[in-house]
Amino acid sequence: MTYTITLDRAACDGIFACLVRDDRFTEREDGLAGIEGEAADGPVSETATVTVSFDDDRLADAEQAAAACPVDAISVTEEGES
Ligand code: SF4
Repeated sequence: MTYTITLDRAACDGIFACLVRDDRFTEREDGLAGIEGEAADGPVSETATVTVSFDDDRLADAEQAAAACPVDAISVTEEGES
């Protein structure tokens, strides 16, 4: 299953409901979320949109994180969807 997780850091409010649903979400030093697999060690703007694609069976975890985010900063798109 190939899918893409998009995190809108401009919308993220650092509430971290996502972390407990999917441990690929991380708390970055600026207090906002990041995603495992992004350029984790480099600077990421507080308004950047982070997009990471995965090919595994954790789609449901990502979708739960997206659903849990109170500001809808996370979206999950399966390959083939527009
Ligand atoms: S749940 Fe949403 S607002 Fe909270 S840290 Fe995760 S992405 Fe940001």
